[in-house]
Amino acid sequence: MSLSRVASAISASPTLALNEEARLLRERGEAVIHLGIGEPKNKTPLTAILSSAAKLSSGDVKYAPTDGNPSLKKAIVRYTEENYDRLVAAQNIIVSDGAKQSLFNILFTLCNPQDEVVVLAPYWVSYPEIIKMIGAVPVIVTPEDGSFIPRFEEIERVVSSYTKALIVNNPNNPSGAVYPEELIARIVELCESRGIYMICDDIYHKLVFDGRVAVPAYRYTKRDIENTRVIVVNGVAKLYGMTGFRIGWVVAPVKLVEIMTNVQSQTITCVSPVMQAAAEGALTGMQSMVESLRLAIQNNRDVLMQELHAFPSVKCIKPEGTFYALPDFRAYLRNSVAKNSVELAYFLLKKALVVTVPGKEFGMEGHMRLSYAGTVKELTEGVERMRWALDPNAPSEIYIGDRKLVRDWL
Ligand code: PMP
Repeated sequence: MSLSRVASAISASPTLALNEEARLLRERGEAVIHLGIGEPKNKTPLTAILSSAAKLSSGDVKYAPTDGNPSLKKAIVRYTEENYDRLVAAQNIIVSDGAKQSLFNILFTLCNPQDEVVVLAPYWVSYPEIIKMIGAVPVIVTPEDGSFIPRFEEIERVVSSYTKALIVNNPNNPSGAVYPEELIARIVELCESRGIYMICDDIYHKLVFDGRVAVPAYRYTKRDIENTRVIVVNGVAKLYGMTGFRIGWVVAPVKLVEIMTNVQSQTITCVSPVMQAAAEGALTGMQSMVESLRLAIQNNRDVLMQELHAFPSVKCIKPEGTFYALPDFRAYLRNSVAKNSVELAYFLLKKALVVTVPGKEFGMEGHMRLSYAGTVKELTEGVERMRWALDPNAPSEIYIGDRKLVRDWL
């Protein structure tokens, strides 16, 4: 079969295969604990439900403007002013089917084949694949000191005349790191002086802990919205736990938004007006649930860190935001268990019925991404099961549901 070389080169996500295996196990009645999934368990904000229900029951659900409903764009203009201290116009905004599509539109609009896009490891799995999909080249910067935050010099070193853009995801999925303000300031300066676009994936920007702030890159540019190289991506998925509504947006110079609108008009036509109404309801409704969600997740982070302390050889840098941690499991990679993070994820699923995501997917082999977006019970039980499966000093017997399991592989 002769297929597109570009499409065939896109990696299937190993997470999907793992998730499918977990789903089949659950279907068979197994007590699977999912520490893989990146979505909070909260209910959709009532204002989002009401406004989308009103749109639906009007019976008037037709094509919407390609760049987004004017009233939703107005709410995003206000959100940008309140949270970024930036006055932008509706023409600076395009609404898409989730932040993932927003990122695709930006990269497709900016890059020619062979252009380079700098990605900071650990990175969200989709960045390199989207970059490859549009014919550009991902250039990965991995912190040499084993931390989750590259030094400025490491970033500067890979920038060349081929560099078109640089993606900064702050706070970071998968590590939960919040980049220092000084690093953000220096990246803005580097990008603007070298004519490189700085794509800020701010999807977790309000999910920060212990009084920290993920400082917006806009703060460090003196240029106005039409001339800045800073492009912002955000959405409702993580902000309100509205992952299934698929609403994301971009704030960018008008020229870029116009081209992205043309691209979107030839791909999806428009985003469903029902989903846009939901996003508008969330953005214009009571915002207290954002803080409740943040507090619940910060508490989960604390529980996870405490549970991981019982794991003598797991090292975990304390996450400062998001709902992920990326502990280092290298001490437990041995032949009788698993040789790498992908094998370890399968091992943990098979033996302990716990879903994790292998660090290899994020450019951090030997680490495992754990999501703490779920319940405290899932976290404590999940870590206890992993410890039972991997740590020779843990009790060799465990109850999973009413089944007693005995470890005989260490
Ligand atoms: N960026 C990052 C860093 C993410 O983690 C995600 C979702 N997992 C997205 C973008 C995509 O968000 P959406 O669901 O709005 O497409």
